[in-house]
Amino acid sequence: MNVEVQPKAYEKRAAEFIASRQQMLIGGAWVDAASGETFEVENPATGQVIAHVPSGDGADIDAAVKAARRALSGPWSKLTPAQRAAMIWRMSDALEASAEEFALIETLDNGKPFTAALNGDLRTCVENMRYNAGWATKLNGEQINPSSPTALLAYTMREPVGVVGLIVPWNFPLTMAVNKLSPALAAGCTVVLKPAEQTPLSALRLGRLVEACGFPEGVVNVVTGFGHTAGQALTDHPDVDKISFTGSTEVGRKILRAAGGNFKRVMLELGGKSPVIIFPDADLDKAIEGASRGIFANTGQTCAANSRLYAHRSVFDRMLEGISERASKLRVGDGTDAATEIGPVVSRTQMQRVLGYVESGRSEGASVAVGGQRRGDQGYFVEPTVLVQTSRSMRVVQEEIFGPVLCAMSFEMDDLDRIATEANDTVYGLSSAVWTRDITTAHLMARKIKAGMVRINGGGVDHALPFGGYKQSGWGREYGREGIEAYTELKTVAVAM
Ligand code: NAP
Ligand code: MG
Repeated sequence: MNVEVQPKAYEKRAAEFIASRQQMLIGGAWVDAASGETFEVENPATGQVIAHVPSGDGADIDAAVKAARRALSGPWSKLTPAQRAAMIWRMSDALEASAEEFALIETLDNGKPFTAALNGDLRTCVENMRYNAGWATKLNGEQINPSSPTALLAYTMREPVGVVGLIVPWNFPLTMAVNKLSPALAAGCTVVLKPAEQTPLSALRLGRLVEACGFPEGVVNVVTGFGHTAGQALTDHPDVDKISFTGSTEVGRKILRAAGGNFKRVMLELGGKSPVIIFPDADLDKAIEGASRGIFANTGQTCAANSRLYAHRSVFDRMLEGISERASKLRVGDGTDAATEIGPVVSRTQMQRVLGYVESGRSEGASVAVGGQRRGDQGYFVEPTVLVQTSRSMRVVQEEIFGPVLCAMSFEMDDLDRIATEANDTVYGLSSAVWTRDITTAHLMARKIKAGMVRINGGGVDHALPFGGYKQSGWGREYGREGIEAYTELKTVAVAM
C-alpha cells in the first residue's frame, strides 16, 4: 500500500511564502529594488537556492528613510502609548499564531533545527514583543530638584529618538530583528530594518505580518540587500537618527565612523570570546551540560557563546571528557529532521572560516580532542569541536570563531585575581560564565570579570536583563529598561517659578 504523507498546514504556508515573489516593504508598498536586481537565498543544509530577494541599495534605503520620516509625524505619532502597546501585543498574538510557519522559514534559511527555532527563537520573539509592549506606557521622566537656590520647577521627559535603522545578523535572524523592532516601536520610533544577506526571509515575512496588524504605512520598512550597499547607505544616511546594530566588531567600527556624519545615536552589539570558568566545587554534571550547550547550541553561532573553557586543574579532565562525549554524540544534520540537534553553519564562507580556524589552531600547536572536520559533502556541516593545548597567544583563543569550536584550558592557581586576568585577556567583554557552589567566589568573580554579563551556575539571558558588551564587544545595552530607553531622547524642561 502506498501511503502519501500530506504536508502539514504550516509546511504548506512556509513553502508558499518562500516560493512567492519576494518584495521589500517601503512606505506601505511591496516593491522590487529600484535597480531591479535580486540575489539568491540558499538553504545551508542543502546548498540549494530557495528564493531570490531584491538587492536593495542606496536608492531604496533613501525611499525607506523618507517613508519612515513621514510616518514619524503621521497617524502613528497620534497614538497613545496604550494604543501602541495594544498594537505590539496584537503583533505578538499574530506571530504566536504563525510560529510554526516562521520557525520553518528560519530553519530553511538559516539551517537551525526546527524545534530550536520554534521553542527558542519564536518563543523569544513573542515574549520580547510582550515585554516591550508593557514599557510603552511606562516611559517616564522624573521631577528633579535643582541644585541652585533659584525657584525652578524642572523635569525630564522621554521622546522617541526618531527614525531608526536596524541592522541585524544571520545567527538569530528573526529574534535579532524583533529584539530591536519591539522596543523601537514601543518607544514610538519608526524603523528601516535591514536583515543579513544570508537570511532575509523571516524579516520579509515579518513585514507581511506587521502590515496585517494595522501599523500605519512607513512605520516599519524592510529593505533587503548587502552590507556594503544597503547597510552602508543606512548608516551614512543624514536623516537617520539612530542605528541599532548586531554583528561583527569590524562592521561595528565602520558604523561608528559613518554615524559621525550627523552624530546619529549608535547601539552596537558585537562579537565575543566569552570564558566559562569551572571551579573545583562546581556541580560538574550541570557544568558539563551548560558549557556544552553554551558553545554548541545554534552551531556555535551565538555572540555570547562560551568559547573559552577554563577549568581548575583538578576537574579539567572530567570536564573535557564530559564535553567531548557530548560533542561526539550530538546529532548533526538537516534542521527539518526531528532528530537533529545541531544544524549546519549558515554558509559556505562561514564553514570555511570555521574550518580555517581549526587549521590555524593546529598549526599553532593545538590538538583536536574531538570533531574538527566538515561532515558530509552536501550542505555546510561542521562537527562539534573541542581544541586542547591551546594558549593565550593563539588566534583560536583570541578571535571570535562563531562556530561550534571550544578551546579547553586549565588553570592551576586559586587566586581569583589571576583567574580573572586570564578570563579578561581578550579585546572582547560580552558575556561570561562561572560555575561554583561557593557564593563568595561567585560574587567576587562577578566583580572581577570585565564583561556585560556574568552567568552563574547556568543563569541566562532574559528580556528584562540589560545585555551588551564591555570593551570591543559593543556600545550600549539591549533589553530591560536600558534597552527601551535607548530608543528615546531625554529632554529636560526647566520652568522659572
Ligand atoms: P557582519 O558583516 O557584521 O553582518 C551583520 C550585518 O551588518 C549584516 O546585515 C550585514 O550585511 C551588515 N553590514 C555589513 N557591512 C556593513 C556596512 N559596511 N555597513 C552597514 N552594515 C553592514 O557579520 P558577517 O559578515 O555576517 O559575519 C562575520 C563575523 O561576524 C562572524 O563570523 C562573527 O564572528 C561575527 N558576527 C557576530 C554576531 C554577533 O551576534 N555578535 C553576529 C553575526 C556575525 P550583509 O548581510 O550583507 O553582510
Ligand atoms: Mg557580511
